[in-house]
Amino acid sequence: MTTVKHLVVGAGFAGLGMAIKLQESGEVDFLVIEKGSDVGGTWRANDYPGAACDVPSQLYSYSFAPNPDWSMSFSPQPEIQAYIRRVAHEAGVLDRFRFEVALETATWDDEARAWQVTLSDGSGVSATNLISGAGGLSEPKLPDIDGIEGFQGEVFHSARWNHDVDLTGKRVAVIGTGASAIQIVPELQKVVGHLDVYQRTAPYVLPRNDRRYTGVEKLAFRHLPLVQRAYRTAIYWGRELYVPGFTLEPKLAWPAKKLALGNIAKGINDPELRATVTPDYEIGCKRILISNTYYPALASGNVEVVTDGIAKITGDAVVTSDGVERPVDVLVVATGFFTTEQPIAAAITGRTGATLAETWRETGMVAYKGTTVHGFPNLFQIVGPNTGLGHSSMVFIIESQIAYILDAIRTMEREGYSSVEPHLDVQNRWNDDLQRRMQRTVWNSGGCASWYLDEEGRNTTLWPRTTFTFRRLLAQFDVASYAVTGPAPSPTPAPTNEKVSA
Ligand code: NAP
Repeated sequence: MTTVKHLVVGAGFAGLGMAIKLQESGEVDFLVIEKGSDVGGTWRANDYPGAACDVPSQLYSYSFAPNPDWSMSFSPQPEIQAYIRRVAHEAGVLDRFRFEVALETATWDDEARAWQVTLSDGSGVSATNLISGAGGLSEPKLPDIDGIEGFQGEVFHSARWNHDVDLTGKRVAVIGTGASAIQIVPELQKVVGHLDVYQRTAPYVLPRNDRRYTGVEKLAFRHLPLVQRAYRTAIYWGRELYVPGFTLEPKLAWPAKKLALGNIAKGINDPELRATVTPDYEIGCKRILISNTYYPALASGNVEVVTDGIAKITGDAVVTSDGVERPVDVLVVATGFFTTEQPIAAAITGRTGATLAETWRETGMVAYKGTTVHGFPNLFQIVGPNTGLGHSSMVFIIESQIAYILDAIRTMEREGYSSVEPHLDVQNRWNDDLQRRMQRTVWNSGGCASWYLDEEGRNTTLWPRTTFTFRRLLAQFDVASYAVTGPAPSPTPAPTNEKVSA
């Protein structure tokens, strides 16, 4: 059994950033576990052809580790992964990372005031604080299509790309037209013999204003850090301008809608295909995508966009509801992730003996400030409920949460608290306010279904305000919102300065 002060789950932007900031603040007694074989999280897993960020790279990097070497304004996945690796190595934290180990169970031990954790390699860890950076988009969601398990060709999810399969000249089908698919399709179109794209709902796709950074720009970024900071700040505020269109008045998004429809007209000549790919809901209701190559790829001679629902999959074909059978060698499933039921929630058992998943069964995912949960002392989540964004970089949210968690840890140490847990009424007020704000957002009222909403139609994934408001609200650990306990462990009941309500 290993005993550590902080156990961090996941080595993506969240877990790695947490490790670096713990170390910087002198909190060196931590362990990071990662189920993959490397750092990177999303950017390690999603290495499909064409993978790139769709928020500018300047923002899609840690504020404390600017990268003067981005080649493009929207960097490709290998560059982002190399950046994350470099930051991890330079920070000197990797000696406390254990790879290819997953969290199996984590149970709060109220007597010891610690999390007792079992890992997939059979070992155990006891940790005062459990910090989850397990990611909101990490568990691939496979479509429940009749016969898919009997398919005889190759089949893989976009986040589990099989690079051993040579697609040259093959008949390939891509299921899905979300953020992953629209990056994959143009790359596949260039090499495959024939490509069927199964579209259930058309996305809005804006032009991608991508460009290579010039040598002069890169020199300036390297030697004049203030220039890069100013550039980043300008991009940040540009992205924040999207917020009113998402959260207050969808009509404000008409310039974006015009751009998206123009992108269709530019990329596709055939009126029928144009109509097929034109969305019938408000822009922003689903994630707005960017690409200059998606529509031209759909318009190519070797691509068919199929909108009839998939009825079943046979050993070598996809059969649609109109009875048409399209033979296929390789099936690429770009159908997204489990977002509203985080898989890690089933593994975490709190103070009352209920798992996080059980606790959330009736209410949907709820957390105080997207970070802490009533009934789960000393559990901190990065990218927890209602922290996702439709417009800007998650790294900004992640850094805000890391700062909040660090302040919680400092407070606990300064005051001698062995546990902190948000009051139920405080958490409820926080969530009621979020859900009230959610009603007028385009995500809830824009006439589409999306991974933002759970089965009950609640939006438990996105943050409905500006990102600077999020940062302000998490600027300080607000201990008054928490029930705290004094030093532990103790043979007699530990002094409690506030009653913990069930
Ligand atoms: P997604 O946005 O959830 O898209 C899944 C797609 O699969 C949708 O088109 C969906 O159709 C379709 N689908 C799901 N089940 C289906 C079924 N049974 N039959 C037919 N179609 C089905 O997933 P994603 O594209 O992987 O993207 C997820 C998120 O990851 C994005 O929103 C974004 O936040 C992030 N991401 C970011 C980047 C980037 O930064 N560049 C790239 C990729 C992903 P419906 O729309 O009808 O449900």
